[in-house]
Amino acid sequence: MRAYNFCAGPAALPTAVLEKAQQELLDWHGKGLSIMEMSHRSKDYVAVAEKAEADLRKLMNIPENYKVLFLQGGASLQFSAIPLNLLGKNNKADYIHTGIWSEKALQEAQRYGDIHVVEAGTKIDGKLAITPQSQWNLSDDAAYVHYADNETIGGLQFAGIPETDKPLVSDFSSSILSAPLDVSKFGLIYAGAQKNIGPAGLTLVIIREDLLDQAKPEIPSLLKYSAQAKNDSMVNTPSTYAWYLSGLVFEWLLENGGVDAIHQVNLQKAQLLYGYIDSSDFYANPIAEANRSIMNVPFTLANPDLEKLFLKEAEENHLLNLAGHRSVGGMRASIYNAVPLEGVQALVNFMDDFAKRNG
Ligand SMILES: *Cc1c(COP(=O)(O)O)cnc(C)c1O
Repeated sequence: MRAYNFCAGPAALPTAVLEKAQQELLDWHGKGLSIMEMSHRSKDYVAVAEKAEADLRKLMNIPENYKVLFLQGGASLQFSAIPLNLLGKNNKADYIHTGIWSEKALQEAQRYGDIHVVEAGTKIDGKLAITPQSQWNLSDDAAYVHYADNETIGGLQFAGIPETDKPLVSDFSSSILSAPLDVSKFGLIYAGAQKNIGPAGLTLVIIREDLLDQAKPEIPSLLKYSAQAKNDSMVNTPSTYAWYLSGLVFEWLLENGGVDAIHQVNLQKAQLLYGYIDSSDFYANPIAEANRSIMNVPFTLANPDLEKLFLKEAEENHLLNLAGHRSVGGMRASIYNAVPLEGVQALVNFMDDFAKRNG
Protein backbone atom coordinates (compact mmCIF):
# COMPACT_ATOMS: atom_id res chain seq x y z
CA MET A 1 0.00 0.00 0.00
CA ARG A 2 1.04 3.61 -0.48
CA ALA A 3 1.62 5.47 2.77
CA TYR A 4 0.95 9.17 3.30
CA ASN A 5 4.26 10.92 2.71
CA PHE A 6 4.87 14.25 4.45
CA CYS A 7 8.45 14.61 3.22
CA ALA A 8 9.64 18.18 2.54
CA GLY A 9 11.44 17.09 -0.62
CA PRO A 10 11.79 15.03 -2.66
CA ALA A 11 8.13 14.84 -1.83
CA ALA A 12 4.91 12.96 -2.49
CA LEU A 13 3.74 12.59 -6.08
CA PRO A 14 0.13 11.95 -7.11
CA THR A 15 -0.52 8.20 -7.28
CA ALA A 16 -2.41 8.62 -10.56
CA VAL A 17 0.69 10.23 -12.10
CA LEU A 18 2.98 7.43 -10.95
CA GLU A 19 0.55 4.85 -12.30
CA LYS A 20 0.51 6.56 -15.69
CA ALA A 21 4.31 6.70 -15.72
CA GLN A 22 4.42 3.03 -14.78
CA GLN A 23 2.05 2.16 -17.62
CA GLU A 24 4.20 4.06 -20.09
CA LEU A 25 7.55 3.06 -18.64
CA LEU A 26 8.62 0.25 -20.98
CA ASP A 27 6.80 1.24 -24.12
CA TRP A 28 5.95 4.91 -24.45
CA HIS A 29 2.86 5.41 -26.68
CA GLY A 30 3.57 2.24 -28.64
CA LYS A 31 6.99 3.43 -29.80
CA GLY A 32 8.78 0.40 -28.36
CA LEU A 33 11.01 2.28 -25.95
CA SER A 34 10.90 4.27 -22.73
CA ILE A 35 10.72 8.06 -22.80
CA MET A 36 14.02 7.89 -20.86
CA GLU A 37 15.69 6.19 -23.79
CA MET A 38 14.73 8.79 -26.39
CA SER A 39 16.84 11.56 -27.81
CA HIS A 40 15.85 14.89 -26.28
CA ARG A 41 15.90 16.24 -29.84
CA SER A 42 13.48 13.63 -31.22
CA LYS A 43 10.11 14.82 -32.47
CA ASP A 44 8.31 12.72 -29.85
CA TYR A 45 10.32 14.04 -26.92
CA VAL A 46 10.16 17.65 -28.06
CA ALA A 47 6.36 17.33 -28.22
CA VAL A 48 6.32 16.06 -24.61
CA ALA A 49 8.55 18.95 -23.52
CA GLU A 50 6.45 21.54 -25.34
CA LYS A 51 3.20 20.19 -23.94
CA ALA A 52 4.58 20.39 -20.40
CA GLU A 53 5.43 24.04 -20.96
CA ALA A 54 2.07 24.81 -22.55
CA ASP A 55 0.23 23.16 -19.64
CA LEU A 56 2.30 25.04 -17.06
CA ARG A 57 1.57 28.29 -18.89
CA LYS A 58 -2.14 27.47 -18.73
CA LEU A 59 -1.99 26.54 -15.04
CA MET A 60 -0.11 29.66 -13.98
CA ASN A 61 -1.53 31.98 -16.60
CA ILE A 62 2.01 32.96 -17.61
CA PRO A 63 2.03 36.06 -19.84
CA GLU A 64 3.55 35.80 -23.33
CA ASN A 65 6.47 38.06 -22.52
CA TYR A 66 7.85 35.46 -20.10
CA LYS A 67 10.12 32.53 -20.94
CA VAL A 68 9.83 29.24 -19.10
CA LEU A 69 13.12 27.39 -18.65
CA PHE A 70 13.48 23.74 -17.61
CA LEU A 71 16.93 23.59 -16.03
CA GLN A 72 19.09 21.45 -13.77
CA GLY A 73 21.14 22.07 -10.64
CA GLY A 74 18.25 22.64 -8.24
CA ALA A 75 17.04 25.89 -6.77
CA SER A 76 20.50 26.16 -5.18
CA LEU A 77 22.23 26.65 -8.53
CA GLN A 78 19.81 29.49 -9.18
CA PHE A 79 21.25 31.19 -6.08
CA SER A 80 24.35 31.68 -8.30
CA ALA A 81 22.65 31.97 -11.69
CA ILE A 82 20.39 34.83 -10.58
CA PRO A 83 23.14 37.28 -9.55
CA LEU A 84 25.31 36.25 -12.52
CA ASN A 85 22.43 36.99 -14.88
CA LEU A 86 20.66 39.90 -13.25
CA LEU A 87 23.09 42.05 -11.24
CA GLY A 88 23.75 44.18 -14.32
CA LYS A 89 26.14 47.11 -14.40
CA ASN A 90 25.65 48.57 -10.94
CA ASN A 91 26.10 45.13 -9.36
CA LYS A 92 23.61 45.77 -6.54
CA ALA A 93 20.64 43.83 -5.30
CA ASP A 94 18.33 43.74 -2.26
CA TYR A 95 17.76 40.40 -0.52
CA ILE A 96 14.96 39.96 2.01
CA HIS A 97 16.09 37.65 4.80
CA THR A 98 13.36 35.54 6.42
CA GLY A 99 15.00 32.17 7.05
CA ILE A 100 17.44 29.50 5.99
CA TRP A 101 16.74 29.41 2.25
CA SER A 102 16.70 33.16 1.72
CA GLU A 103 19.96 33.24 3.70
CA LYS A 104 21.59 30.66 1.46
CA ALA A 105 20.48 32.67 -1.57
CA LEU A 106 21.95 35.92 -0.26
CA GLN A 107 25.20 34.29 0.85
CA GLU A 108 25.75 32.99 -2.66
CA ALA A 109 24.83 36.35 -4.22
CA GLN A 110 27.37 38.09 -1.96
CA ARG A 111 30.10 36.29 -3.90
CA TYR A 112 29.15 38.24 -7.02
CA GLY A 113 27.85 41.64 -6.06
CA ASP A 114 27.04 44.32 -3.54
CA ILE A 115 24.13 42.74 -1.66
CA HIS A 116 21.94 44.79 0.65
CA VAL A 117 20.32 42.49 3.21
CA VAL A 118 16.91 43.44 4.59
CA GLU A 119 16.30 41.62 7.88
CA ALA A 120 12.59 40.84 7.77
CA GLY A 121 12.22 38.15 10.41
CA THR A 122 10.65 39.21 13.71
CA LYS A 123 8.59 37.90 16.61
CA ILE A 124 5.01 38.83 17.44
CA ASP A 125 3.85 37.58 20.85
CA GLY A 126 6.67 35.04 20.79
CA LYS A 127 5.75 33.76 17.32
CA LEU A 128 7.93 34.13 14.23
CA ALA A 129 6.63 36.57 11.64
CA ILE A 130 7.68 38.68 8.66
CA THR A 131 7.98 42.42 9.30
CA PRO A 132 5.65 44.64 7.26
CA GLN A 133 7.22 46.06 4.14
CA SER A 134 6.87 49.60 5.54
CA GLN A 135 9.73 48.69 7.89
CA TRP A 136 12.13 47.53 5.19
CA ASN A 137 14.71 49.90 3.82
CA LEU A 138 14.97 48.86 0.20
CA SER A 139 17.67 50.48 -1.95
CA ASP A 140 16.91 53.00 -4.68
CA ASP A 141 19.37 51.47 -7.10
CA ALA A 142 19.01 47.69 -6.69
CA ALA A 143 19.02 45.73 -9.97
CA TYR A 144 16.43 43.43 -8.39
CA VAL A 145 14.78 42.47 -5.11
CA HIS A 146 14.97 38.82 -4.01
CA TYR A 147 12.84 36.97 -1.48
CA ALA A 148 11.76 33.40 -0.72
CA ASP A 149 7.96 33.17 -0.82
CA ASN A 150 7.85 30.17 1.48
CA GLU A 151 10.62 29.25 3.91
CA THR A 152 10.30 25.48 3.69
CA ILE A 153 12.30 24.73 6.83
CA GLY A 154 10.79 27.35 9.13
CA GLY A 155 7.26 27.05 7.74
CA LEU A 156 7.11 30.83 7.30
CA GLN A 157 5.36 32.27 4.24
CA PHE A 158 4.73 35.75 2.85
CA ALA A 159 1.07 36.74 3.14
CA GLY A 160 1.27 38.64 -0.16
CA ILE A 161 3.66 39.83 -2.86
CA PRO A 162 6.09 42.62 -1.87
CA GLU A 163 5.63 45.91 -3.74
CA THR A 164 8.59 47.29 -5.67
CA ASP A 165 9.34 49.05 -8.94
CA LYS A 166 12.46 46.86 -9.29
CA PRO A 167 12.32 43.41 -10.86
CA LEU A 168 11.05 41.06 -8.17
CA VAL A 169 12.85 37.71 -8.00
CA SER A 170 11.38 34.95 -5.88
CA ASP A 171 12.16 31.43 -4.77
CA PHE A 172 8.88 29.50 -5.03
CA SER A 173 10.45 26.06 -4.60
CA SER A 174 7.95 24.90 -2.00
CA SER A 175 4.91 26.99 -2.94
CA ILE A 176 4.71 27.12 -6.75
CA LEU A 177 1.31 25.91 -8.00
CA SER A 178 -0.10 25.79 -4.46
CA ALA A 179 -2.18 28.95 -4.90
CA PRO A 180 -3.04 31.37 -7.71
CA LEU A 181 -0.21 33.80 -8.46
CA ASP A 182 0.00 36.95 -10.57
CA VAL A 183 3.17 36.14 -12.55
CA SER A 184 3.18 39.61 -14.13
CA LYS A 185 4.28 41.06 -10.78
CA PHE A 186 7.61 39.24 -11.04
CA GLY A 187 10.83 39.60 -12.96
CA LEU A 188 11.76 36.01 -12.22
CA ILE A 189 10.22 33.05 -10.38
CA TYR A 190 12.21 29.89 -9.76
CA ALA A 191 11.50 26.54 -8.14
CA GLY A 192 13.18 23.19 -7.73
CA ALA A 193 10.68 20.58 -8.95
CA GLN A 194 10.99 18.08 -6.13
CA LYS A 195 8.66 19.84 -3.66
CA ASN A 196 5.44 20.68 -5.40
CA ILE A 197 5.96 19.64 -9.03
CA GLY A 198 7.76 16.42 -9.87
CA PRO A 199 10.92 14.43 -9.21
CA ALA A 200 14.29 15.94 -8.31
CA GLY A 201 16.56 16.95 -11.16
CA LEU A 202 14.47 19.71 -12.71
CA THR A 203 14.39 23.40 -11.85
CA LEU A 204 11.86 25.81 -13.31
CA VAL A 205 12.76 29.40 -14.10
CA ILE A 206 10.05 31.78 -15.31
CA ILE A 207 11.67 34.99 -16.48
CA ARG A 208 10.44 38.23 -18.07
CA GLU A 209 12.04 38.58 -21.49
CA ASP A 210 13.52 42.03 -20.95
CA LEU A 211 15.75 40.60 -18.18
CA LEU A 212 17.33 37.94 -20.36
CA ASP A 213 20.26 39.77 -21.87
CA GLN A 214 22.35 41.26 -19.11
CA ALA A 215 24.49 38.37 -17.87
CA LYS A 216 28.07 38.88 -16.75
CA PRO A 217 30.38 37.91 -19.64
CA GLU A 218 32.18 35.24 -17.62
CA ILE A 219 28.95 33.38 -16.77
CA PRO A 220 29.02 29.64 -17.58
CA SER A 221 27.01 29.12 -20.79
CA LEU A 222 24.70 26.63 -19.12
CA LEU A 223 23.66 29.23 -16.53
CA LYS A 224 23.00 31.94 -19.07
CA TYR A 225 19.24 32.49 -19.29
CA SER A 226 19.38 34.04 -22.78
CA ALA A 227 21.25 30.99 -24.12
CA GLN A 228 18.83 28.57 -22.47
CA ALA A 229 15.84 30.55 -23.74
CA LYS A 230 17.22 30.61 -27.28
CA ASN A 231 17.78 26.84 -27.17
CA ASP A 232 14.46 25.86 -25.55
CA SER A 233 16.33 24.77 -22.38
CA MET A 234 18.36 22.31 -24.43
CA VAL A 235 21.82 23.86 -24.53
CA ASN A 236 22.81 20.41 -23.35
CA THR A 237 20.80 17.30 -22.47
CA PRO A 238 18.00 18.32 -20.10
CA SER A 239 16.64 16.16 -17.30
CA THR A 240 14.31 14.39 -19.71
CA TYR A 241 12.51 12.04 -17.34
CA ALA A 242 11.89 14.67 -14.67
CA TRP A 243 10.59 17.04 -17.34
CA TYR A 244 8.25 14.34 -18.70
CA LEU A 245 6.99 13.41 -15.24
CA SER A 246 6.45 17.04 -14.28
CA GLY A 247 4.38 17.29 -17.46
CA LEU A 248 2.19 14.45 -16.18
CA VAL A 249 1.74 16.35 -12.90
CA PHE A 250 0.66 19.46 -14.84
CA GLU A 251 -1.89 17.33 -16.75
CA TRP A 252 -3.13 15.90 -13.45
CA LEU A 253 -3.58 19.40 -12.03
CA LEU A 254 -5.48 20.59 -15.11
CA GLU A 255 -7.74 17.51 -15.00
CA ASN A 256 -8.49 18.29 -11.36
CA GLY A 257 -9.55 21.88 -11.84
CA GLY A 258 -6.20 23.66 -11.96
CA VAL A 259 -4.55 25.85 -9.36
CA ASP A 260 -7.76 27.41 -8.02
CA ALA A 261 -9.17 23.99 -7.17
CA ILE A 262 -6.00 22.63 -5.58
CA HIS A 263 -5.64 25.87 -3.60
CA GLN A 264 -9.05 25.26 -2.01
CA VAL A 265 -7.96 21.77 -0.99
CA ASN A 266 -4.65 23.15 0.31
CA LEU A 267 -6.51 25.69 2.46
CA GLN A 268 -8.71 22.94 3.89
CA LYS A 269 -5.66 20.81 4.68
CA ALA A 270 -3.83 23.69 6.35
CA GLN A 271 -6.90 24.74 8.35
CA LEU A 272 -7.45 21.21 9.54
CA LEU A 273 -3.87 20.74 10.74
CA TYR A 274 -3.26 24.20 12.21
CA GLY A 275 -6.73 24.15 13.75
CA TYR A 276 -5.98 20.89 15.51
CA ILE A 277 -2.53 22.05 16.68
CA ASP A 278 -4.01 25.29 18.04
CA SER A 279 -6.72 23.42 19.91
CA SER A 280 -4.20 21.15 21.61
CA ASP A 281 -1.93 21.75 24.60
CA PHE A 282 0.18 18.82 23.49
CA TYR A 283 1.35 20.34 20.17
CA ALA A 284 2.43 23.85 19.16
CA ASN A 285 3.34 25.73 15.98
CA PRO A 286 5.90 28.56 16.28
CA ILE A 287 4.63 30.84 13.46
CA ALA A 288 2.37 33.92 13.68
CA GLU A 289 -0.96 33.23 12.01
CA ALA A 290 -0.55 35.65 9.09
CA ASN A 291 2.73 34.06 8.02
CA ARG A 292 1.92 30.40 8.45
CA SER A 293 2.91 28.34 5.44
CA ILE A 294 0.09 26.42 3.78
CA MET A 295 2.65 23.86 2.53
CA ASN A 296 5.05 23.17 5.42
CA VAL A 297 3.70 22.90 8.95
CA PRO A 298 6.35 22.62 11.68
CA PHE A 299 5.16 21.61 15.12
CA THR A 300 6.64 20.69 18.47
CA LEU A 301 5.55 18.31 21.19
CA ALA A 302 5.15 19.73 24.70
CA ASN A 303 7.45 16.93 25.84
CA PRO A 304 10.35 16.64 23.34
CA ASP A 305 11.34 13.28 24.90
CA LEU A 306 8.35 11.79 23.09
CA GLU A 307 9.56 12.79 19.61
CA LYS A 308 11.24 9.48 18.80
CA LEU A 309 8.18 7.50 19.87
CA PHE A 310 5.93 9.86 17.89
CA LEU A 311 7.93 9.30 14.70
CA LYS A 312 8.11 5.54 15.22
CA GLU A 313 4.38 5.17 15.78
CA ALA A 314 3.56 7.56 12.94
CA GLU A 315 5.56 5.36 10.59
CA GLU A 316 3.75 2.26 11.86
CA ASN A 317 0.56 4.10 10.93
CA HIS A 318 1.84 4.74 7.39
CA LEU A 319 2.50 8.44 8.07
CA LEU A 320 6.02 9.03 6.79
CA ASN A 321 8.78 11.64 7.07
CA LEU A 322 7.44 13.85 9.83
CA ALA A 323 10.80 14.72 11.40
CA GLY A 324 11.69 18.42 11.22
CA HIS A 325 14.72 19.63 9.26
CA ARG A 326 17.99 18.51 10.81
CA SER A 327 18.88 22.15 11.55
CA VAL A 328 15.75 22.90 13.62
CA GLY A 329 14.45 19.59 14.99
CA GLY A 330 10.86 19.09 16.10
CA MET A 331 8.31 17.86 13.59
CA ARG A 332 7.26 19.09 10.19
CA ALA A 333 4.41 17.96 7.98
CA SER A 334 4.80 19.03 4.36
CA ILE A 335 1.34 19.02 2.84
CA TYR A 336 2.06 19.74 -0.81
CA ASN A 337 -0.47 19.40 -3.65
CA ALA A 338 0.02 15.64 -3.90
CA VAL A 339 -0.86 15.02 -0.23
CA PRO A 340 -4.64 14.51 -0.16
CA LEU A 341 -7.02 15.87 2.47
CA GLU A 342 -7.50 12.28 3.73
CA GLY A 343 -3.77 12.13 4.45
CA VAL A 344 -3.96 15.21 6.66
CA GLN A 345 -7.07 13.84 8.33
CA ALA A 346 -5.20 10.58 9.04
CA LEU A 347 -2.31 12.60 10.50
CA VAL A 348 -4.61 14.63 12.75
CA ASN A 349 -6.37 11.45 13.94
CA PHE A 350 -3.01 9.90 14.78
CA MET A 351 -1.77 13.05 16.55
CA ASP A 352 -4.92 13.20 18.63
CA ASP A 353 -4.71 9.55 19.59
CA PHE A 354 -1.01 9.90 20.43
CA ALA A 355 -1.72 12.95 22.62
CA LYS A 356 -4.49 11.13 24.50
CA ARG A 357 -2.23 8.17 25.21
CA ASN A 358 0.82 10.23 26.17
CA GLY A 359 -0.55 13.53 27.50
C1 LIG B 1 14.40 22.86 -1.20
C2 LIG B 1 14.57 24.32 -1.36
C3 LIG B 1 15.72 24.86 -1.97
C4 LIG B 1 16.87 24.00 -2.43
O1 LIG B 1 16.50 23.22 -3.49
P1 LIG B 1 17.56 22.30 -4.25
O2 LIG B 1 16.76 21.92 -5.46
O3 LIG B 1 17.89 21.16 -3.36
O4 LIG B 1 18.73 23.11 -4.58
C5 LIG B 1 15.78 26.22 -2.12
N1 LIG B 1 14.80 27.03 -1.70
C6 LIG B 1 13.69 26.55 -1.11
C7 LIG B 1 12.62 27.50 -0.69
C8 LIG B 1 13.54 25.18 -0.93
O5 LIG B 1 12.43 24.70 -0.35
